[in-house]
Amino acid sequence: MLKRVIPYAHTLLKELVQVGDTVIDATCGNGHDTLVLSECVAETGTVYGFDIQAQALEETRRRLTVHNQPERLLIQDSHANLLDHLKVQDYHNITAAIFNLGYLPGGDKSIITTPQSTLDAVQVILEHLKKGGLLILVIYHGHEGGSDERDQLLTYVQSLEQKDYDVLQYGFVNQKNNPPFIIAIEKKRMLIY
Ligand code: SAM
Repeated sequence: MLKRVIPYAHTLLKELVQVGDTVIDATCGNGHDTLVLSECVAETGTVYGFDIQAQALEETRRRLTVHNQPERLLIQDSHANLLDHLKVQDYHNITAAIFNLGYLPGGDKSIITTPQSTLDAVQVILEHLKKGGLLILVIYHGHEGGSDERDQLLTYVQSLEQKDYDVLQYGFVNQKNNPPFIIAIEKKRMLIY
């Protein structure tokens, strides 16, 4: 009945994202979230996928191909550099973005997302979300460095103005070993910067 965190994140994305929309997977990893986003936006939509590791992008490309998805914009760069890659027509027109933080499962566990680049990317994406758009953070905090990233992100999202954003936290409080949890941020109105 109660969804695990990743299925819950995917449910939110599937409820919101429509055919033709523009979306971002900020941490492609093995491509599970990219695939969900790709299926939601279909042929006419746009998916930006970021990862700093070639191995992750190869696996994401492979997963998309196996599932008969079209080619997507898979970019080997930090999500913090999003603006170097975002097309002008996609400015302020992002429907959804997801971050799955931490290390690549099955990969090098020393390569992890870091607080500053995650925060930089979150801020840029929030600016470019459209009204009603959603940014999801799946926060893993059991690994070294994870609790620091968690704390910095929680401090930031708790500071977001209630009139501008709804911020939801979803996770299980009786699981052992630092279970992951979700922060979902819905943009309520366009802001002038
Ligand atoms: N969403 C993925 C999936 O469905 O399999 C899992 C993502 S994994 C937990 C985290 C990924 O973030 C790793 O592949 C890692 O290389 C990537 N990463 C770390 N720092 C990054 C950065 N600054 N920009 C983009 N990706 C980054």
